[in-house]
Amino acid sequence: MSIDLFPRKPVVSPEQLQQLKDWLYEILQIDRHTIISINQLQCQDSGCPPIQTAIAVMTSPHRIIRIHKAIPDIAYTDVVQAIANPNPNPNR
Ligand SMILES: [Zn+2]
Repeated sequence: MSIDLFPRKPVVSPEQLQQLKDWLYEILQIDRHTIISINQLQCQDSGCPPIQTAIAVMTSPHRIIRIHKAIPDIAYTDVVQAIANPNPNPNR
């Protein structure tokens, strides 16, 4: 099996990014001026798609949310789940 060290990151439109942020503001019920940083990163976990999304919410304290999907694949329910259960894998 070959290992793709540099999987292509899916292209994300500004609309997709904004949608994800809108959901985060809504679900977390935080101020719209709160900075949210969203990055697509490689995920090394077995059984995971090669790209995960790391979301940093600059509240105090900061909040890091990981979703094991690329941004275009993230649905509203994924965000709800990731927030409700931020660390589903106790081995990490
Ligand atoms: Zn993953």
